[in-house]
Amino acid sequence: MKCGFVSLVGRPNVGKSTLLNELLGLKLAITSDVSGTTRNIIQGIYNDDEAQIIFVDTPGIHKPTHKLGTIMNKKAYNSTEGVDIILFLVDIEKGFGTGDKFVLNKIKEHDVPVFLLLNKVDKIKNKEVLLEKINELKELYDFSEIIPISALKGDNTDLLIKCIKKYLPEMDAIYSEDELTNVTTRFIMAEFVREKLLELTHDEVPHTVTCYVENYEEDEDCVHIQVLIVVDRDNIKKIVIGKGGQMLKEVGIRARSDMEKFLGKKVYLETYVKTLKNWRDREKYLVELGLEETDE
Ligand code: GDP
Ligand code: MG
Repeated sequence: MKCGFVSLVGRPNVGKSTLLNELLGLKLAITSDVSGTTRNIIQGIYNDDEAQIIFVDTPGIHKPTHKLGTIMNKKAYNSTEGVDIILFLVDIEKGFGTGDKFVLNKIKEHDVPVFLLLNKVDKIKNKEVLLEKINELKELYDFSEIIPISALKGDNTDLLIKCIKKYLPEMDAIYSEDELTNVTTRFIMAEFVREKLLELTHDEVPHTVTCYVENYEEDEDCVHIQVLIVVDRDNIKKIVIGKGGQMLKEVGIRARSDMEKFLGKKVYLETYVKTLKNWRDREKYLVELGLEETDE
């Protein structure tokens, strides 16, 4: 049996969370085209007859501009400590930019095998262009493997799993087979709501929005979930609620559908919105919302 930790690293928006979900065949991490969507470290556990692979999804590494950004970076760096393999994702369509270079320099501080994953190959129609890009990028570092993939379509993900197994140590499984993740179901439910908000409001509601499950009650055949949406300005609150409550309603419908799929049960979802001024810079709120560990 092979077992080990594999972390997904890359600048925001390269497709780390999409890949995690695809590898697990389960929607654990929310994804969006708004960068910096993933705020916490999410572990997803993959099992088959030969191996247990613990994938660690991270917030994208970027230059922090506020307290929340600093916390997200810290989490991303920590998640590369002690792992067996680092998967370095690059958006092949966008190419290798300064953001990627910044991440690669951080990766170089670790002495573990690094796979270069050229993601979003479905966007590259010309295979010669792809080969050219591979030739260019392989000079950057002594990568253990270079694999073009499409996290969205699942292209080459079987090959990726095969390659990962080659580099993992012989070891018994750490987690039992029914454990899927380190994060709580409550956390995942709140994330579903945040994803729909980002999806439906686009750039109008940026990182200032946070969702939090205030109440979670499970009966035999249904689950009651109350989600608090925290924003830092009243005009954002207005956007989140929408005209006549339309936006919040649509967010609720979509989030509930994901929740029901995940839980396999009927869900009664209640959402409400609260303004907390400048909460991103206030440690207290970050702790309350579970985004910062306390020192105890
Ligand atoms: P993260 O910030 O690195 O976790 O990136 P996400 O997983 O949230 O993905 C960012 C965006 O890229 C989302 O809109 C995804 O649907 C999209 N995306 C991810 N992987 C692929 C891929 O292989 N092909 C295409 N076309 N889009 C992708
Ligand atoms: Mg992500």
